[in-house]
Amino acid sequence: MDTAYDAEVIVVGAGPTGLMLAGELRLAGVRVVVLDRLPGPTTESRGLGFTPRTMEVFAQRGLVDRFDALDTPLQTTTRGHFGGLPLDFGVFPGAHPAVVNLPQVHTETMLRGWVAELGCDLRRGHTVVGLSDTGEGVRVRVEGPDGAAELSARYLVGCDGGRSTVRALAGFEFPGTPATLELFLADVRGCEIRPRFIGEWLPGGVAMAAPLGDGVDRVVVCERDTPPRRRTEPPEFSEVAAGWQRLTGEDISHGEPLWVSAFGDATRLATQYRRGRVLLAGDAAHVHLPAGGLGMNTGIQDAFNLGWKLAAVVRGRAPGTLLDTYHDERHAVGRRLLNNTRAQGLLFLGGTEMQPLRDVLGELTGHEVVHRHLAGMVSGLEVRYPVGPGDHPLLGRCVPDMELAGEAGTTTVFGLLHGARGLLLDLDGDDRLRRRAQPWADRVDVVSARPAGPAGPASDAGAARTDAVLVRPDGHVAWASPGSQEELTDALARWFGAPALSPVG
Ligand SMILES: Cc1cc2nc3c(=O)[nH]c(=O)nc-3n(C[C@H](O)[C@H](O)[C@H](O)COP(=O)(O)OP(=O)(O)OC[C@H]3O[C@@H](n4cnc5c(N)ncnc54)[C@H](O)[C@@H]3O)c2cc1C
Repeated sequence: MDTAYDAEVIVVGAGPTGLMLAGELRLAGVRVVVLDRLPGPTTESRGLGFTPRTMEVFAQRGLVDRFDALDTPLQTTTRGHFGGLPLDFGVFPGAHPAVVNLPQVHTETMLRGWVAELGCDLRRGHTVVGLSDTGEGVRVRVEGPDGAAELSARYLVGCDGGRSTVRALAGFEFPGTPATLELFLADVRGCEIRPRFIGEWLPGGVAMAAPLGDGVDRVVVCERDTPPRRRTEPPEFSEVAAGWQRLTGEDISHGEPLWVSAFGDATRLATQYRRGRVLLAGDAAHVHLPAGGLGMNTGIQDAFNLGWKLAAVVRGRAPGTLLDTYHDERHAVGRRLLNNTRAQGLLFLGGTEMQPLRDVLGELTGHEVVHRHLAGMVSGLEVRYPVGPGDHPLLGRCVPDMELAGEAGTTTVFGLLHGARGLLLDLDGDDRLRRRAQPWADRVDVVSARPAGPAGPASDAGAARTDAVLVRPDGHVAWASPGSQEELTDALARWFGAPALSPVG
């Protein structure tokens, strides 16, 4: 163990991105310290659910049942939307559903419980105020409950949200466009507000409402032509109630506000996700209008992409260049996210001048190919990474989940990924695969099994069939038969580092 540093990785921020990353690093045995400036968990409800791809991420780590244990059973749906145009994720047969009406605090509570069990060192009330990358490691200055202190680590990841201090201190560029409008949000008790899940277009703007349980409703008010204001404090509930009344004619001013906030459509993306030994993930790397509820999802998926790679580099099993694939893969997702949310914002928040476009797009979504394209975008199921040579339709996509029967009984593909290790899944009893992967046995499990049920959504990628797949710890397929045995060796070396023993020639 490397004791020259206080931690192998410092994660700044214990929001959903930082917690997911800390869990992934702990699964690989990495010494992690998570620093968060808040003295306790946030009570802001924020995102209300997650997408099918995030559901897959949680299923791949066996985390879904943890919501039941928290007494927050998941409400699932196959319905989604793109800028208010209804979509049905049922176009991907076998896909995991989306989760709705689940305040983000519950997702964070679930993740916090998981990382605590994994022995994560989470330090609250610790604000990062200074940072330097020495080339060999990173040093941070922290103001904590016992005063100022310095901590060192081999790598540091800024998961510290849209106003990221790490991003500024480490000199990341963050170009984009400032907010052009302001929306209000309130979680309010005691008003019995009619739900408007996707939003209701009204002459003055758009009104959204969703029940959060226990008599609490979320309202979002977007009055057209409301320019953003520089606020240092959240708006008063009376401002939100007045806007709601102007839009809908309904009086909610007697309600008890639990959380009131204002947000806008500022859209920015870091030009690099990595500078030396400092990396960014989640809102620290990308901010945008929360249209379609994609922010938390993208942050969790950034962390899922980065965690196993950073662990492999810290453990000395893979070269530092593996971290460059984090930028390549997730920056492309971030670019697309910004385009997607901008387009959704225009459609959703625009006035009557947008109606012809909504009508035309509404007609287009009646065509299956368009419907699937947009559903793939907002569900996260479209993501495909450039993993290497070959044209198999599964390459770079998330492996389809399916029931398996093998020597050790029945399991699922996702069940085999719970430990965040590589997986070579052999569905055809081909002994050559086991021999081929033997030099990576400390990092990659080889499992022989037979399909015992229908496959999940990625099989949809050109009705892909395969007898064997190499799956990265984040569930993405790095090699698929009938790719050659030599290509399998190359993929093992590319994604899992140099072999411990000489590979089979
Ligand atoms: C109104 C609203 C609705 C939303 N709806 C959705 C939705 O439906 N679905 C969805 O996916 N997303 C939604 N989002 C977006 C989602 O809330 C964010 O994308 C998500 O919280 C980002 O997670 P994060 O971990 O990257 O950052 P954050 O959640 O912002 O966490 C950052 C953490 O870093 C800490 N921190 C900051 N600076 C420092 C420092 N210097 N030192 C130490 N700690 C620091 C903070 O205390 C915080 O705990 C919504 C956002 C808003 C505002």
